[in-house]
Amino acid sequence: MKILVTGGTGYIGSHTAVELQKEGFGVLVIDNLCNSEKHVIDSIGEITGQKPLFEQIDLRDPEATMEVFSKHNDISGVIHFAALKAVGESVEKPLEYYHNNLFSMINLLKAMRETGISNLVFSSSCTVYGQPDQLPVNEKAPRKDAESPYGNTKKISEDIIEDTVRTTGMKAIALRYFNPIGAHGSALIGELPVGTPNNLVPYITQTAAGIRDHLRVFGNDYDTPDGTPIRDYIHVADLARAHVIAMNRMLRNQNKDRYEIFNLGTGNGFTVLEVIKSFEKVSGIKLNHKIVQRRPGDVEKVWADTTHANEELGWKAEKGLDEMMLSAWNWEKSLQAQKNKKS
Ligand code: NAD
Ligand code: UDP
Repeated sequence: MKILVTGGTGYIGSHTAVELQKEGFGVLVIDNLCNSEKHVIDSIGEITGQKPLFEQIDLRDPEATMEVFSKHNDISGVIHFAALKAVGESVEKPLEYYHNNLFSMINLLKAMRETGISNLVFSSSCTVYGQPDQLPVNEKAPRKDAESPYGNTKKISEDIIEDTVRTTGMKAIALRYFNPIGAHGSALIGELPVGTPNNLVPYITQTAAGIRDHLRVFGNDYDTPDGTPIRDYIHVADLARAHVIAMNRMLRNQNKDRYEIFNLGTGNGFTVLEVIKSFEKVSGIKLNHKIVQRRPGDVEKVWADTTHANEELGWKAEKGLDEMMLSAWNWEKSLQAQKNKKS
């Protein structure tokens, strides 16, 4: 069976392509390469022994999107990762974010409807919960007003999918990721942050690699054990595995509703200082970091209630924080080695 993976040369998409191929699926990747590189297709091939098919198209283009669906008429399901994802940039460029993330979503759903493809897995985010009233947060918690245009595109996309499912024969699963980090054990694929990273872990590894002078820890006056914010960090390989399970659930008609939502986290929260400590332990490097002011828009603490995913999907995150940090560090070292080879 062939699965279309949009955004499949990106960070989470590439890991999911690997897991899909490991499970015997054929993979067709669509990406416009606005935030990834084509050689990732070769790296996936190196890991799995089989290169996925690749079409470089922009999902904002409805004709190009439809053409791919007409050309590949044996697609059984779609996993939709393609989106712009930088929260801060979305505040600066709201129209670009709404245009890219929502037009892509709509063009994709229209093409699926036209060609009768019914199974969709969508990349959502725990950002839809804002600062939850209760922790751990489960899927029934109310969604809060989005803190950014990026967050709003996730909320609106969930609504678009729910409305579409109601009026078509389509089935969909929205996966709300907590904080994906780490990289594939081979260190052949991982996150490729463009410019200065916004996220904690690539910032940590770049600081340790000497690319950044120091990590700024955004605030230590939160109501948490050490004063720094708490997140539920999840290994990208665990996350990728959940996509295969979600797709199989729909392909085997095991879904309980035509539209389902699952949290993907470990269920454990760690503070920023705990993440730094874990990094220092696995890398043996003392990380230069300074406490600075809070970052606007950051929530204090959030971690997942994973009961629904554990019981319904039969999925559980397996990798702990140290393993996540070690894989992130191995990936950073591999990136630096590649750069040194080129120069
Ligand atoms: P990424 O940027 O590495 O991958 C996204 C891919 O989509 C990129 O390769 C990019 O080139 C492609 N793309 C973007 N717009 C496109 C378009 N119009 N047409 C074709 N391709 C397009 O991001 P990621 O971290 O792998 O995230 C994947 C998905 O998961 C995104 O939807 C993101 O919002 C969501 N998500 C990510 C995180 C995270 O922390 N990484 C957390 C929650 C949700
Ligand atoms: N963070 C930090 N310094 C950085 C980047 C992030 O202290 O340079 C903190 C941030 O305040 C948050 C946590 O690390 O508490 C995770 O941030 P990230 O941007 O990785 O993910 P978010 O939860 O914001 O999506």
